[in-house]
Amino acid sequence: MDLFEWQAKELFGRYGVPVTKQRVVSTPEAARAAADELGLPVMVKAQVKAGGRGKAGGVKFAPTADDAESHAKNILGMDIKGHTVHTVLIAEAADIGEEYYFSFLLDRANRSYLAMCSAEGGMEIEQLAVEKPHALARVAVDPVAGVDDAKALEIATAGNIPEAVRGQAADVIRKLWDVFVGEEATLVEVNPLVRTPDDKVLALDGKVTLDDNASFRHAEVHEAYRDTSATDPLEVRAKELHLNYVKLDGEVGIIGNGAGLVMSTLDVVAYAGEDFGGVRPANFLDIGGGASAEVMANGLDVILSDPSVKSVFVNVFGGITACDAVANGIVQALSLLASRGEEVNKPLVVRLDGNNAEEGRRILSEAAHPLVEQVDTMDGAARRAAELAGKVA
Ligand code: GDP
Ligand code: MN
Repeated sequence: MDLFEWQAKELFGRYGVPVTKQRVVSTPEAARAAADELGLPVMVKAQVKAGGRGKAGGVKFAPTADDAESHAKNILGMDIKGHTVHTVLIAEAADIGEEYYFSFLLDRANRSYLAMCSAEGGMEIEQLAVEKPHALARVAVDPVAGVDDAKALEIATAGNIPEAVRGQAADVIRKLWDVFVGEEATLVEVNPLVRTPDDKVLALDGKVTLDDNASFRHAEVHEAYRDTSATDPLEVRAKELHLNYVKLDGEVGIIGNGAGLVMSTLDVVAYAGEDFGGVRPANFLDIGGGASAEVMANGLDVILSDPSVKSVFVNVFGGITACDAVANGIVQALSLLASRGEEVNKPLVVRLDGNNAEEGRRILSEAAHPLVEQVDTMDGAARRAAELAGKVA
């Protein structure tokens, strides 16, 4: 889960990383009140999970409360790289002497962590890496040894942080490591990390990605920082049902068993869809091996309640769970849905292959549900599902 800047800096504060005082608001009036409360001048900053807010006009300096209010008015509702601004951060404005760059991230290729540090911050990391690669230090961090004072100083030195504030920067770096490990993050980035004219080091921006696989160990933080406004309601519902579901923007609903099979199903449907007006998959849904009728019913339920779905492709390869069990699951799922009052009203194309495929097909044929069609090959079934969802006849 990516965090908003205000959340990242709130976490930083808990670990003793120096940050400016801040308030999150969602109206211009509240922005004015926050500015009065914090003391002027303040920064007004769009809270969206995208970089380059400054360049997009989403970060403004406000010397007066009037300015804070009018900047908030302009920034709220703004679109930044496809993200609508629902809240702005009002933060004490710092005087900036120099801007540095710092981050900890996962280095998958080297199965290790990586610290990146540069005395030439301010610009975005992608640009820095291309334009001034020599100025960007990359220091490997042994996950077992971690970052102590000496290591932090090594990183600050490698990044050419000026001596006058190097000790302070190292202290911040060690604390950011505590954030990285303590919160089980996969990214902690500060850009800019600034040196004020009176030689204080401050984190003025924060970008943190928390590891979702570790959320159960940090339930409070993950719960508190969850962004419900940006989450698709179908994904929320699927999560409550413990389904492995991702909403996509096409028209063919997809259910399969096994992530690999489902991913290749998406490709095959997208390819077949080209012949039918550019029809595309509407979702990813892996019901896994050993899926019960209830799981199948829940999956169908979520997919069928997506208004953009025009047809559904159920693609099952029988393995440990044989096709006859899956076929029975589908039949039971259809009657379960009917009994919940959610009659299936969109065509279903089912392809069963693998263990006990023939028996599975027989069960489905016998049930003779009017909206269920069987096609024996994956390509053929994908084509038929795309055709049924097709924009052109
Ligand atoms: P980003 O563009 O999304 O990375 O947003 P930032 O939070 O990094 O802000 C963009 C730029 O605004 C920074 O690089 C700074 O130059 C400037 N800025 C941010 N906070 C302050 C502040 O407190 N005081 C001053 N003077 N400038 C700031
Ligand atoms: Mn930034």
